[in-house]
Amino acid sequence: MSTIAHKLQAVDETIQAAIKASGRAPGTVQLLAVSKTFPAGAVLEAVAAGQRAFGENYLQEGIDKIAAVGAALPGEAIEWHFIGPIQSNKTRPIAASFAWVHTVERLKIAQRLSEQRPDDLPPLNICLQVNISGEASKSGATPEELPELARQVAALSRLKLRGLMAIPEPETDVSKQRAAFARVRMLFDQLRADGFDLDTLSMGMSADLEAAIAEGATIVRVGSAIFGARNYDNKDKA
Ligand SMILES: *Cc1c(COP(=O)(O)O)cnc(C)c1O
Repeated sequence: MSTIAHKLQAVDETIQAAIKASGRAPGTVQLLAVSKTFPAGAVLEAVAAGQRAFGENYLQEGIDKIAAVGAALPGEAIEWHFIGPIQSNKTRPIAASFAWVHTVERLKIAQRLSEQRPDDLPPLNICLQVNISGEASKSGATPEELPELARQVAALSRLKLRGLMAIPEPETDVSKQRAAFARVRMLFDQLRADGFDLDTLSMGMSADLEAAIAEGATIVRVGSAIFGARNYDNKDKA
């Protein structure tokens, strides 16, 4: 077995144990393998080990990797998620190449993604990124902006609003990790109570995925625990 296969297996065991520990049903958490800065060959190894959903942060790198993986494995159903910051002049290739976008934080980006989603593809799955750390420098809509943004995005015909995404401040203390994820969960529950048909909470990375699962994550985005330490020299910033 390759190192990536071993690490995927270990991450899967961690996820299953966390699901069990929190009394949740099996199969309620999806693993998104974050392959940013790693070559297409690393994705192919993960696919050989059974992984099918991959997350990319940098547009040009992601587009190139999608093409390379598609050429190596024609017809293989691989699901690509865009999880990086989005510039408004770079929405078209995102709308054409990805199945999900986790990082929508303003209406203008959502409108462009909807207008540019090709007609032969199903609606683009969207998570709204929420900033719960309260710093103006951080990405994401504020909790106050969220209900109106959700209402506007849900109305866009070529998007399917699925839920929320958050990247809380890194914390080593598990109770602090959980407190941050619980705030995201409360916002999610509030939107559902308001009538939005949402099923996705994208939260938790290599260092805090257990806390995220304990607080209701349905997608955990895991990079380094699967692929190893990142070397940013490889990446081609979008
Ligand atoms: C890089 C990244 C991840 C994965 O982080 P790891 O700590 O390597 O697991 C998850 N989500 C986002 C948005 C990222 O940019």
